Amino acid sequence: MVRVEEALQKITSQEVPLETATYAVFESLGYCLAETIYAPFDLPSFDNSAMDGYAICGSGTTFKLKGEVAAGDTGTYSLNEGEALRIFTGARTPENTTAVIMQEHTRLEANTVCLEKEYHAGQNVRKQGTELAAGQEVFPIGHQLTPASIGLLSSLGFASIKGYRQPRVHILVTGDELVAPGAPLKPGQIYESNGATLAAVLQQFGIKAIAIYAIKDQLEALSQQVVKSLKEADFILISGGISVGEYDFTKKALEQNGVEEVFYKVKQKPGKPLWFGKKANRFVFALPGNPASALTCFYIYAWPLLQKFQGLPATGLTRQKVSITHNYKANPERPEFLKAKIEQEKVTILEGQSSSMIFSMALANALVFTGSLNEMRAGDEVECILIP
Ligand code: AMP
Ligand code: MG
Repeated sequence: MVRVEEALQKITSQEVPLETATYAVFESLGYCLAETIYAPFDLPSFDNSAMDGYAICGSGTTFKLKGEVAAGDTGTYSLNEGEALRIFTGARTPENTTAVIMQEHTRLEANTVCLEKEYHAGQNVRKQGTELAAGQEVFPIGHQLTPASIGLLSSLGFASIKGYRQPRVHILVTGDELVAPGAPLKPGQIYESNGATLAAVLQQFGIKAIAIYAIKDQLEALSQQVVKSLKEADFILISGGISVGEYDFTKKALEQNGVEEVFYKVKQKPGKPLWFGKKANRFVFALPGNPASALTCFYIYAWPLLQKFQGLPATGLTRQKVSITHNYKANPERPEFLKAKIEQEKVTILEGQSSSMIFSMALANALVFTGSLNEMRAGDEVECILIP
């Protein structure tokens, strides 16, 4: 039996195989870059207009209109002193442009543009290279791609990038009592929910290569699936069968297939029977079957290792100190992860903390971690783990 911090240390200190692959930029959301990105050219790559209006040359108040230039026009235009060109947002400004005057500040009389407002040189001109200069570092290795990062890479002309490969994950749900939602339920049976929960949280994490297998409480069946999953997946999440009951075969099935135990059982509530092990560069979490335990253990222990797989620091979910609205009696010998709700910068522990309950977890946006505390008093700043 290990303490929470010890368990986390044993997970985050694992060496993880960082493999890279090439991904289309438009499919790279959430991936971490495995290469440094430099700007291949200035951004913007040419001086252009920030407004619909007139490009003018000189310092007068009236200009002779010579024609127009629209966005996407690839021609080269030039102005002489006293001349103007009708111009639209994003169009390349003509040579010798002093400024672009927005059309609302002008009046057109015959073929003459009359200015109705003061202006200064360079006004409404987006100068070449003001956002990024050619050769400048844009993103370092490890940068996780957000929608805006993907937009920037696209605007720099990148169609593909080198990123860290996402792990392939197998979810094995065990239990003779489990029935897939949609099928009729007999007395004594329950609907299987951990598979859907874990697949959802993996998807939220950006992992697409997920397979779910439902296995009966039989050593042989589970063992066969473990063999297959060790071949096909980097990361195996097993739910159930890790306690000490007559039908709990998970630990045995793993051990007989050479998955080495790193730890078994954590001094915590919920999720005491958590098991973590590895075989070569495959990692296995055997999560307790109780739905709230399974998800809590995933958030606290599996998430940091998945971060490492993706090329991120193994920081886990964001932790934040929040003032609690009420007293709570804790047990430092068995720290708790309590389903809680943060509202208006204050946290309240929810009703229904039993590890078999998922309702409170579905309403929670945080877990309060009691750590080494033996009590929490109303107004104390307590450690909250934010549920994404
Ligand atoms: P176990 O860890 O196999 O002893 O299961 C603990 C509790 O969690 C039992 O009440 C199981 O019925 C329940 N349970 C196990 N697996 C699942 C699952 N995939 N979905 C919903 N409940 C489960
Ligand atoms: Mg079971």
